[in-house]
Parts: sequence; C-alpha cells; structure tokens
Amino acid sequence: MNNEPLTINYEPVIGLEVHVELKTKSKMFCSCSADYFGQKPNTHTCPVCLGSPGALPVPNGKAIDWCVMIGLALNCKIANFSKFDRKNYFYPDLPKGYQISQYDQPFCLKGFITLSNGKKIGITRVHMEEDTAKLTHQGENSLIDFNRSGVPLVEIVTEPDFENAKEVIEYLKKLQQIVRYLDVSDADMEKGNMRLEPNISLREITMNNELLTINNLPKYKVEVKNINSFRFAEKAIEYEIRRQTEILSENKTPVQETRGWDEDKQKTVSQRIKEEANDYRYFPEPDIPPIRFTQNQIRQLADQMPELPDAKLARLIKEYNLSKYDAEILTREKEMTDYFEEAVKVGKTFKINPKQIANTVINKKIDMNNILPAELVKNIVNFKKTDDIDENKLQEITDKVIKENQKAINDYKSGKVQVIGFLIGKVKQHFPTADSNQIKTALEKKLK
Ligand code: ZN
Ligand code: MN
Repeated sequence: MNNEPLTINYEPVIGLEVHVELKTKSKMFCSCSADYFGQKPNTHTCPVCLGSPGALPVPNGKAIDWCVMIGLALNCKIANFSKFDRKNYFYPDLPKGYQISQYDQPFCLKGFITLSNGKKIGITRVHMEEDTAKLTHQGENSLIDFNRSGVPLVEIVTEPDFENAKEVIEYLKKLQQIVRYLDVSDADMEKGNMRLEPNISLREITMNNELLTINNLPKYKVEVKNINSFRFAEKAIEYEIRRQTEILSENKTPVQETRGWDEDKQKTVSQRIKEEANDYRYFPEPDIPPIRFTQNQIRQLADQMPELPDAKLARLIKEYNLSKYDAEILTREKEMTDYFEEAVKVGKTFKINPKQIANTVINKKIDMNNILPAELVKNIVNFKKTDDIDENKLQEITDKVIKENQKAINDYKSGKVQVIGFLIGKVKQHFPTADSNQIKTALEKKLK
C-alpha cells in the first residue's frame, strides 16, 4: 500500500491586528490635545507624553469607555476586572522605554464579526494602549514628533480565521463602519488613524488514500507591515500567498519574519527576522490602579450606543421592504441612513414609496449637504407630476421662451447650436424636474 500523500494543497491561515486611534479631545494619560494631525511638530507635549522620569499617568475615562463600547459592538465579553501593563522595548519613538498597554487582562475578550456569507471571524481581544511618537527619516537623519505620543489607541486582534484577502477586506470595512457609527474614531487609513497588520501562513491539506487531513496551524507566521490602504492589504496578502506557496511546494518552510509592503515593487520585502518571540517583559503598570466595571456600568455604556450597522441593515430591509443590496448601500454611512429615513418621513405625507426614495438617494448620488431630505421629496413629487406633463402647457411655454429670447434664437439659427442649453434652462424653470430631452425635442421642432 502506498502511504505517500496523493495531493497536497495549501490553505491560507490569516489573522489580523488592527490599531484604531480614538478621537478623544485629550491624550490617553495626560491632558495634551490628541488632535495632532497637521499640527506643528512637538507642540502637543508635556512631561507625561514625553516620558520624563517621575511624571504620572492619569487614564482618560472617555477613552476607556469607548474601548469598552468597541468591544460591546464586536460582541465581546467585557472584563469586570482589568489592568494596564508595561510593554518594554527600546525604540526612539517610545521615550519611556515602554508602552502602556494591556497584557493578560484586557478590557474585552472573545467577540466576533459576521461576514455577509454568515462566516464568523473570531475576535481574540480588544485592548487599550497609547500611541507612540512619529518618526520621519530624512536622509541620514531621523526626526521625532511627539504630538502623537500618548494618543489613545485601541488594538483589535482576531483569531487566524480568514482564508483569503477578500474576507480580510470585508472584515476591515465592517470594523471601520462600526467605529465610525460609534463615532469614536475617524478610522481613516490615509491619516493613519486606522492601521493594520495581517499575519499570513499556509497550512497543508493532504489527501492520503482518500483520507483528508487538515494539518494543524503552521509553525511559522509572516507579519506584513506598512499597509496604508485596503487595496494594499489585498495585494500584500495575495502576494504573500503566492510567495509562500512557491516556497512550500519546493519542500521548504518560509522564514518567520516581518515583511513590509513595497507599493513601487508590488511585493513584500523582508524587514526583520524574528528568531524567537519578542520578550517584552510585560509587568503591571504600578502607577495606575486596576480598573473595575460593574454589570450596571457596562449596561449603561451599552445603552448609550447607537443602532449598529448589522441591526440597521436588518431593520431597513424589514421596515421599508428594501432589497438587501439597497439597504447595504444606505447603511454604509450612518448619515446616509439618517437622510433616507428623514426623507421617508416627509414622503409619507405625499404617499411616496420608501423604495422610490431609496432609489433616488442611491442612483442620483444626492448631495446630502446641499439638498435637504424635504427638498428631495419635493423633487420626487414634482417629477411624478411631469410623468403626465401637459403637452399643451409645454407648447405654450416653449413659444413664450422663443418669443422672449430672440437673440438666442438668432444665434441658434446662425449655427451656435449650443445655446439650446440656455433655452432648455428657461423652459425648465416652469418644469423643474422635467426630462430635458423632452424639452429639447419640443424646442428643436419649433426652431426648424
Ligand atoms: Zn502630554
Ligand atoms: Mn499594539
């Protein structure tokens, strides 16, 4: 009997670490302004966030509440007892020589996000920490800006549950949508207030005498950094899957390392080889007492939370009889749903079907900042009227416009046909939402 594996396939095993900067007014452990983007370097600093010896951290209560809310929104269990720890490592962006983070007792544990195909992506933990200073390299010099040092940062870690880049992107979009709904972060990748690090490896699936064996988690893991858009994330993950498949099919094992995405070269490049796990020598932060949450406090935070995307989507479908597709577009941003629902309310008086409002909002790319929901409804009502636009009235108005705009008519007749646009505009003043083509045809007939 032949015991050689008949076929070997590789299945990607992907996990994700996401850092989200909170948009609190002040920093995590001092009263410096956390709004550092675009500010003059090193103007939002104090002894605490500069890491001066003896300076004492005072935790930002709002940031902790928001971290718990993120955990609740991600279906996590909230710890009744939690603490901060020191994560020690030496790097110039960290003046204290350690980052205040959370190690074994984070605020939130064991949650999940459900993808549209029903698959649940497990969330291992959600914890609170502080951001580091920002390093900029200019030739041989490195510049440090401490404005970002100590800005509240929430880290969200998943289980290695993703099988492809598509799932990762869907998860990221959902996560971004949730923190924006909660209004706790702008989660803007370009500004760096949402940062992500996927870790990717491949496991073997062997077929031996019709016995399918899915092997355990791989013995190595490749972390990819330097990804600042969803598109880069997708490309970096797909690149890694190809690269690692090649190595494995030559019977070798990929090196456990940190790689960076190089957009110019369209590939990942080795940055740092981890020979053993980092030893951060975590220990409890002695300057901050442990934090306790009662069930009642957690319930109060849950009560303050807005309706979240999944719930809103389900409600829109049910309440207004919308398609899933339409409801998905309308709930992408909370402002869009609010706008739609406001228009539905106004539309009720005019017996306008919510579906028609949804169509208009989605297809006409309404400028929500300049057209109020009531105006939108008015337009729909007027548009309905033009369905049976009175032909006699149209003739009458076009005659009137022609008579009153002889100069334009002469221009038109001498070959400047583009003035038709001006004339259409004049007629349109009487039929604001009428089909321009219908008016154009009526005008052209008369100008022949
Ligand atoms: Zn400060
Ligand atoms: Mn972190």
